[in-house]
Amino acid sequence: MDEITQADATPNTPTAFGLCHWHKGHAEGIRLIEGIEQGSGPGGNLFACGPCRETHRLVPLADRP
Ligand SMILES: [Zn+2]
Repeated sequence: MDEITQADATPNTPTAFGLCHWHKGHAEGIRLIEGIEQGSGPGGNLFACGPCRETHRLVPLADRP
């Protein structure tokens, strides 16, 4: 007996594909960790993938209070 109560399981976690700043590679499901506003220097937005977030205990910017 299959019990289908939901059409899909799509939580509020958009799958973004891009460069993970921590392992220096592309990955799916990256989240914005740090947004650095700098006019010059190595500023910019830092994204991390799921495994790197676990390894480094990173909390996405949107998940912080
Ligand atoms: Zn990564």
